[in-house]
Amino acid sequence: MHRLLKRQIQKHLCSELQLDERLQKFYEVISQAYIAADEDRILLERSLELTSSELMSRNHDLQRELGRLAEAHTDLQQSLATLNATFDASFDGLVVFDEEHQIVTYNTLFLELLMISKDEAHLLYGQYLKNILAQRVINANELLNVIREGIAAPEKHLSVLLKFIDGRFLDCISLPRYIEKRYAGRVWSLHDVTSLKLSEDDARHRAHHDALTGLPNRALMHDRLQHAIDHARRHHQRAAILFLDLDGFKDVNDSLGHDAGDALLIEVASTLKSIVRDTDSVGRIGGDEFLVLMEGVHQLVHVTDMAERIIQAVQQPFTIKGEEIHISTSIGIALSPNDGETPENLILHADMAMYHAKRMGKNTFEFFARELALISAQRMQVRNRLKHALFNEQFFLVYQPVYRCRQQNIQHMEALLRWRNDEGKLISPADFIPVAEENGLIVAIGEWVLEQACCQLAAWKKMGFVNLRVSVNLSPRHFIQDELVPLIQKTLQAHGLEPSALGIEITETVFMQNLDQSVKVLSQLNKLGIHISVDDFGTGYSSLGYLKKLPVHQLKIDKSFVDEIHDQRSGALIFSIITMAHILGLKVVAEGVEDAESATLLEQQGCDYLQGFHLSKPIAADDITQLLKQQ
Ligand code: C2E
Ligand code: MG
Ligand code: MG
Repeated sequence: MHRLLKRQIQKHLCSELQLDERLQKFYEVISQAYIAADEDRILLERSLELTSSELMSRNHDLQRELGRLAEAHTDLQQSLATLNATFDASFDGLVVFDEEHQIVTYNTLFLELLMISKDEAHLLYGQYLKNILAQRVINANELLNVIREGIAAPEKHLSVLLKFIDGRFLDCISLPRYIEKRYAGRVWSLHDVTSLKLSEDDARHRAHHDALTGLPNRALMHDRLQHAIDHARRHHQRAAILFLDLDGFKDVNDSLGHDAGDALLIEVASTLKSIVRDTDSVGRIGGDEFLVLMEGVHQLVHVTDMAERIIQAVQQPFTIKGEEIHISTSIGIALSPNDGETPENLILHADMAMYHAKRMGKNTFEFFARELALISAQRMQVRNRLKHALFNEQFFLVYQPVYRCRQQNIQHMEALLRWRNDEGKLISPADFIPVAEENGLIVAIGEWVLEQACCQLAAWKKMGFVNLRVSVNLSPRHFIQDELVPLIQKTLQAHGLEPSALGIEITETVFMQNLDQSVKVLSQLNKLGIHISVDDFGTGYSSLGYLKKLPVHQLKIDKSFVDEIHDQRSGALIFSIITMAHILGLKVVAEGVEDAESATLLEQQGCDYLQGFHLSKPIAADDITQLLKQQ
């Protein structure tokens, strides 16, 4: 612009025109230049204005951006703080490594778990960490192997259970870490699982050991026996299993209480442990039942020696709570492979042999013999048949009247059990009751008898025969059941009967076995109003002295005495029994009266009631009904 103006001015100044014209021109040029300059200025001003507002807006944007960045920074700092706090508050020890296996960061718990002080923390790098682990961890090599595995396969999840020398267990898990999808090392988390591990170990121990004595239980003995059987088979040797059952343990429990019983079992357990060889094991498999397993048996004499040593040791008095206790043990022995190839079989056979030892008088040992298995199989068969009889209504009751002396009328009846088997043959209770006693079925059978007898009594009551009494025989095993008294009560109620309608007959063996329990149950029954007889009196060697202690109402003199009543001495004995019983306030029944002469003699001796074929055999309920109608 300047140059152009200069040239125009020069052109006009140098022109031929008059001065005023030139001035005029000059003025015009200047004016135009001024106008142009002014326009330029305006343009410039405008453009400057524009630029500054843009700048302002840019500046504004920038300020906003800066604000946002500051916020983001604060957020980031907060997140970082939260992350750090979380990292530190974690229940796991955490440590992060980069891809060069250098530690990036760790939390406080990590230091604590590895027992590294904060001052030493700055020393944490590869070799130092390795040394620390080697000093404190039992299975550091296992950890190194796992780490190598991770180096070979970075994407792999790793885990290892570290066992520390001080007894702790740390469960260590490692995951790869990635930054923008690129492998960037690993994160390890270490969790203290000591208490879990200990309780697991404890549970495992408890599952395999008896809580009272700490000895291996049946399950563990079973495993060991299996192992012994396999070993014996491979090495052509034998393994022996000794099944021990203490004799008289129940008496200790009953008389001195369960605490004393427990203390005794603990003592027996430690005695047994002190006797056996290191290679043998002792286990407790039930109340007072122990097993001794002998492995690598070359000669039978070693087994008999062991059995004798055990018998000797258990025979020595034990001092429990300051009291000297004498017990003994019966032992049954089974040998692999001859007496059984499986642990179950061997234990079962040793158990059978033990029973045999008990029958041989206790405090002795017996080897398993094949015949025992046969006897036991037969018993099993009878048990199954009895069960079958019970559920297939092969049992029925007959009733034998008991007559009042001289008056010839029925005083009461005794319910007697009968079994007609599948072949229609009648089997005597004398044959099957003892078997049912032995295998426990007697309880179910006894309940059936009670129910049937009450049912029949209710039927007679309905026919108008009131004041009748039926007595049932109770086996010793049924008698000691805690449920007996409530069961009797319930059954009587269910049939709308008075307790006086029911009588029970028990033999002397019942109260000779357990006097306290008998007194307890009999007192409860007596209180209810149930009539109680002592059956087969005179055969059980009990004395009349016993009877003083028992709330019973009646004695039934056993048939074996009645049979010999014509003999002078037997007659005198019967007379004295009757007299003594009367002194004690008891009534007397003579059982098995088969002829008129005996009946007369018994009447003369003061006997109260008579029962026997001479008066009536046991007969069906309908026949009893006829007899009752004739009375
Ligand atoms: P027990 O309780 O002493 O019953 C009397 C047994 O003598 C009955 O034998 C009866 O039939 C028999 N008897 C009665 N009078 C005479 C007689 O003049 N001559 C002869 N030779 N025998 C006579 P049974 O019925 O064979 O019962 C035998 C034993 O079986 C019973 O002896 C009793 O101990 C038991 N028993 C019977 N039924 C039951 C029952 O329901 N439960 C229980 N636990 N035992 C029962
Ligand atoms: Mg009887
Ligand atoms: Mg009898």
